[in-house]
Amino acid sequence: MSKSWGVDIGGTTTVVGLLEDSLFTTRAVLPTNPNEPPEMLLQRIMDVIRANGSRPDSIGIGAAGFVDRHAGVLRRSPNLPLMNGFPLREILGRMAECIVIMENDCNAFAIGALHTGEIPQHGIHLVVTLGTGIGGSIISDGNIIYGEGAAGEFGHMTVKADGIECPCGNRGCWECYASARSLQRYFGSSGNGKIMEPKLLAESAREGDRKAIAAFRQFGEWVGIGLSNLAWCFNPSSILLGGGLSGTFDLFSRTAEVEYSDRCHSPWRVRVLPLCSEAGAHGAAVAGAGAQG
Ligand SMILES: [Zn+2]
Repeated sequence: MSKSWGVDIGGTTTVVGLLEDSLFTTRAVLPTNPNEPPEMLLQRIMDVIRANGSRPDSIGIGAAGFVDRHAGVLRRSPNLPLMNGFPLREILGRMAECIVIMENDCNAFAIGALHTGEIPQHGIHLVVTLGTGIGGSIISDGNIIYGEGAAGEFGHMTVKADGIECPCGNRGCWECYASARSLQRYFGSSGNGKIMEPKLLAESAREGDRKAIAAFRQFGEWVGIGLSNLAWCFNPSSILLGGGLSGTFDLFSRTAEVEYSDRCHSPWRVRVLPLCSEAGAHGAAVAGAGAQG
């Protein structure tokens, strides 16, 4: 029986789990320290793997940012600057003496959802994760479409020609208008001058706070604009939302749908994927197992 490990390196926690006989189980949730040298995080991951006995057959890593799958390097990470350019696949492969593959976090999440059946095996389905930024995955008949390696970066398509500067180097990127930061911008500061976390903003909106409700509506308009562009390009069977902000779909879906329907002819086939903290690690493990064959 093959032992495929999956690791999801997030901004605050790193989930480590094992896929055995098609069954995935989380084995550890480690704190991610952005100031820690990458080697130390890898050492802690290896401690978990070694504590579980025999040598792994593969390790799949999911991480947020621009993942160079061919080189096995995280080129740019919003959460872990010390990881930028670090030869993660090579170093971990040497430590674990097995195949190591890398995926970006959204693709890992999508592969996990494919494996659990949340994403159908037929048709074109798009995954859009709404959070600090916007991640994207294109799935065609059960396969992730990579292009030359980085297809699906929906967050960086231009939605406003003279728009806000994005850290990616472009201006007017979708994620400058439909991410957590933009939602906070639409709301402005609270009475005491503080920037409110999206979770608190959602609570306020659900309690009837008009300013918070208006911020989610504005956010929804921009979500709808981006999704209509995707619908024109892919005419997908469904668009599946993930990421922290997908939990606030009830607060922005109406305005998103109106904006979307005004701009494209595809029916509104948008739904929220169940948020599962282990989906990324699960998907990374499945990708690693696939690389063995
Ligand atoms: Zn950008």
